Amino acid sequence: MILTLEASPVEEIFWRGGRFFLKRDDRLHPDFSGNKARKFYYFLRRDFPRVEQIVSYGSPQSNAMYSLSVLAKMRGWRFDYYVDHIPLQLREYPVGNYRAALENGTIFHIGRPLESHSDPATLRIEEGGRQKEAEEGVALLAQEIVAWYRDQRIETLTVFLPSGTGTTALYLAKHLSQEGIGVVTTPCVGDGDYLQRQFALLEKDSLHWPGIVDLPRKYHFGRLYGEFWQIWLELYRQTGVEFDLLYDPKGWLTLLKHRADLPGEILYLHQGGLKGNESMRMRYERKWAAGSARSM
Ligand SMILES: *Cc1c(COP(=O)(O)O)cnc(C)c1O
Repeated sequence: MILTLEASPVEEIFWRGGRFFLKRDDRLHPDFSGNKARKFYYFLRRDFPRVEQIVSYGSPQSNAMYSLSVLAKMRGWRFDYYVDHIPLQLREYPVGNYRAALENGTIFHIGRPLESHSDPATLRIEEGGRQKEAEEGVALLAQEIVAWYRDQRIETLTVFLPSGTGTTALYLAKHLSQEGIGVVTTPCVGDGDYLQRQFALLEKDSLHWPGIVDLPRKYHFGRLYGEFWQIWLELYRQTGVEFDLLYDPKGWLTLLKHRADLPGEILYLHQGGLKGNESMRMRYERKWAAGSARSM
């Protein structure tokens, strides 16, 4: 069975005195959405008659894990997911991606996948979906962006998105640079050097790498910051759009800081991740109520 996805919509928002276009990949599909849907599109688009199981590893709150659980369910595969540790709190009160993955039948294991998990019946997926197969779905996203930008007769366009592994940004840049569309990103996991090492794992030719911009201070992935919560709330209240709480606050803070240096119109890529917001929002609200966050 071959499954397909419809193009995601583009919207316009006016915020903080500027105009931004939003590519709503969070609206791609009710369950299979965001950039993980793009990165795993390859596995939706083909028949895999011999495959019976997906094996992957990473955090028990990962967006990639949740998307893989949906993919496995759609395809009728078993999904084995390896984690280092599941916090007691989460085991007792499952929320967010972890809860949804459990509901989709994910089988959790503590430890690392075995090497023997590379037989023809098993699809092994790297942490966060950093792999070559991601290119197919991201290339399709690039095509949708090109079609929209031609239709709108936009002269100069910069696509902006926050990065984790950098896989989405890298393949977008590869497919958009030939159209004269710039792709700029900011690292949310590690720093700019880390991100460039990630790019190099997937594409040797640095000519087609995305541009990287950053903020002066360092932020640790998954930690809570007052300014992240503040910009997230402001976006939510003023534009009505719910962004992700892990990547998008850093994304927007960085974009605002560097807006004047980026040419033409901005298309911000909304990469989904809203299932993960359930647990992030709880953490932020708890921290807020405890009065330990900086005041707004
Ligand atoms: C996974 C994810 C990212 C990072 O994507 P990469 O391709 O790893 O850079 C960004 N935003 C959201 C919401 C994600 O789920």
